[in-house]
Order: sequence, then C-alpha cells, then structure tokens
Amino acid sequence: MFDKILIANRGEIALRVLRACKEMGIATVAVHSQVDRDLKHVRLADEAVCIGPNPSPQSYLNIPAIVSAMEITDSVAVHPGYGFLSENANFAEQVQKSGFTFIGPDADTIRLMGDKVSAIRAMKKAGVPTVPGSNGPLPENGERCLEIAREIGFPVIIKAASGGGGRGMRVVHTEAALLNAISVTRSEAGAAFGDSTVYMEKFLQNPRHVEVQVMSDGQGNAIHLGDRDCSLQRRHQKVLEEAPAPGIPDDVRRGVQESCVQACIEIGYRGAGTFEFLYEDERFYFIEMNTRIQVEHPVTEMVTGVDLIKEQIRVCSGEKLSLKQEDIVIRGHAFECRINAEDPKTFFPSPGKVNNFHTPGGLGVRVDSHLYSGYTVPPNYDSMIAKVITHAEDRKAALARMRVALSELIVDGIKTNIPLQEQLVRDEAFAEGGVNIHYLEKKLGL
Ligand code: ADP
Repeated sequence: MFDKILIANRGEIALRVLRACKEMGIATVAVHSQVDRDLKHVRLADEAVCIGPNPSPQSYLNIPAIVSAMEITDSVAVHPGYGFLSENANFAEQVQKSGFTFIGPDADTIRLMGDKVSAIRAMKKAGVPTVPGSNGPLPENGERCLEIAREIGFPVIIKAASGGGGRGMRVVHTEAALLNAISVTRSEAGAAFGDSTVYMEKFLQNPRHVEVQVMSDGQGNAIHLGDRDCSLQRRHQKVLEEAPAPGIPDDVRRGVQESCVQACIEIGYRGAGTFEFLYEDERFYFIEMNTRIQVEHPVTEMVTGVDLIKEQIRVCSGEKLSLKQEDIVIRGHAFECRINAEDPKTFFPSPGKVNNFHTPGGLGVRVDSHLYSGYTVPPNYDSMIAKVITHAEDRKAALARMRVALSELIVDGIKTNIPLQEQLVRDEAFAEGGVNIHYLEKKLGL
C-alpha cells in the first residue's frame, strides 16, 4: 500500500480523499493555490505545498508544479479527484514516467475513453448498448452523410469526438439543415478541442440520465455497484442525484450492469469508473465513460456501504479487488443535493465570506463539505460548496429525510441554491420518480 498520497484537488473532494487516506493510515500532502491556503483539507493534511497563483491553469492544472510537489514531498501516488487533471491522459503519463502512481486507469485507457468515437467502438465491441449512429467519424462526402442520417432517422445529433462539458453538439431535425450543421460543428470542434472529428447519433427526445458505477482492478476482476439517476440537470450540470435509478425493470437493469462489468474486463480497466447512459422506453444507450470518481459517488456509497475512494486507492496500488459481485447488496435509497454558492434564481455565482455554517445531522444524513464558519468562498473555482446526502429504507423515506435535512442547513453570508433544492424535493413529479433530463429546465422556464 502507498505510504504517502498527494491530493491534486481542492474543496470537498480533497477533504473526502484526505479522510479516506487517514483512515487507511496513509500520509497526505495537500497542494493548493495561493487563495486556497485556508481550505479545510490543507489544514488537516500532514503536509501542504502552494503550487501557484489562483487561476487553475497556474495551479490545479499545472502539471510540472504538481509533479515537483510529489518529488519534494516523497509522495508515491496522486489522487486527482474529479475535474481538473482527473481525466487528463498527459498528466497520468507524466506521473507514471516520473515513477509515481496515478490513482486511476492508465493513460491509454483515459485516451481511449476521452475520444468518444473510440469509446463507443470499444463499448459496442464489449456488448454495451449504444445509441444508433454513424459508428465512427462522419465522412467528408455530403451525400454519404445524408444516407447515414436517413438510416438513423431524424432528428439526429452531430457531436464532436473530443467534445466535453456539454459543448460541441448540434441537433438536426431536417435533411435540409444537415450539411450546414455538420460543417459548423466541425469548425467549432476544431477551434474548441483542436480536433474537428464529428460523428452522428440518433437524437433521443425525452431520455433520463442513468449511470452505472464500476470498480475494477485491471487484473481481470470487475464489479458494478448499481446505478444512479442524475436526470435533474441545468445546462448539462447535475443538480440532484439518487441511487438506485427508480422504476427500471430488473432484467433491463441487470443486463446493462453486466455489460459494463464485461467492458471493464475487456479493456483492462483499473479504478473507479462510471458508464453514462441515456435511458428511454426501457432501453439504455451508452454516451460516455468517466474514468474517475464522480461528484455523486456518495449516493452509491450509502446504498452499498462500500467506501469507493478507499477501494479505488486499493486497486490502484496493485491490490486485487476485495469485493465480489455477490458482496454488493443495494439497501434502501439515497439522494444527494448539490449546494452551490449561487443565486437560486439567476444562477449567478455568489462567492464571499460564510459567516455561519450549520449542517444537518441525524440517522442517514451525510454532509460532504469543506466549509466552516468564517471561510471565504473564492470566486476562482467551481461554485459547489457542499453535498447533502440522505439515506433511508426506501425512496419516499430518503426524500422526506432530505426535506428535513435541507431545512436545517444554514449557509449564512452568501447566496446559495438551497431554496431551489427545497423546491425540488417538494416537486410532485420528481417525488413520483423518473423525470427526464429536460424536466428541470422546463420547470425553471428555461
Ligand atoms: P459531454 O461529454 O459534453 O458531457 P455527452 O455525450 O455526455 O457529452 O452528452 C451530454 C448531454 O447531451 C447528455 O447528457 C444529453 O443531455 C445530451 N445528449 C448527448 N447525446 C444525445 C443523444 N444522442 N440524444 C439526446 N441527447 C443527447
């Protein structure tokens, strides 16, 4: 097992990783930008290194600075958290080349999954259900593109192979609009991602976002830890998540979960991963794989009782998976509300000093947050400041628990989206279960 891990992240996930390391008896190194010296995990870590000024490119995305920090602190492994460098194949490669371990899959796997065209090909080959589409990059020949679109059936969506963050996509409803849409998406993709490869998929009109959590040791052993529904989104950003995804027939659920496990074994996957799907009319359609831990991992931890960060650290240190599929039993239901420092109506970020911070508590309530009274939320980074997670014996009870938990939460001094979350957990359609990815934006009148 590693004796010292450097945590290349900030905020709640850095604290989450730090806690896991401490419980495992692993020494910790925090790295931070100048403004972040007062972060909770920086104070609690065994060592801390300032890696640069506040803008992320100069600190949390600064590969040479992070690798140097590993060298001077004698760290043996790095946990990238989510965001920042967590899915950066060059970073994983630099870490490996410097003789350290990247807690995640190897650089080639990150590359394979980072290119959506190659990811979809690999998944299809492994038997994971994909969206009917062009099965590869679109050709230059316009007539051929029209044929592909006719075969798939309109509406279709043109997507950049290297796209991410919900960018580089265009929906096309008619033949007349197709060729222009392809050429615009191509040039946008070239400018934004340095790769103008685009592909085509059937555009699903009212899908849900359902994802499958996996853990794999790269030594032929893989398991899934059930699924999550993250359909409540605004601008492709998840707002409220739950596990398990409600209302999915057992055989359909089992089929897709097993295909994800099979895919992990086939690609030699190592670490924690998430297969993201669109789900419509009792069918799953793979859209992408995230080769890292995700923000919403706690809902899976609550219903499975498995500490995903510890397991991720174990398998990436070379240990075999300590769990078998039959060890994974889904108990009850869990929700997670993301609390952001933002105006609940305009969604404008609201950084600043938190005068008072009071967290809810009680049976089945968990708060993952780096906040404390007197902490100043800087304007430089993501606005998420806390995650409130509730777990209970069933969906109804877990939702009721969330209503109570949110009513106890106080973040005083800055604006937050708590009022929006309070509205969502009282929403009738959401309480029924199974709303689609457009529901939140429609409700907000967007
Ligand atoms: P990104 O990597 O940019 O997040 P994804 O491929 O995960 O891109 O797609 C982001 C979002 O775009 C999905 O969650 C969904 O809302 C929408 N989307 C993508 N592909 C389709 C599709 N074939 N049909 C309908 N919506 C889609």
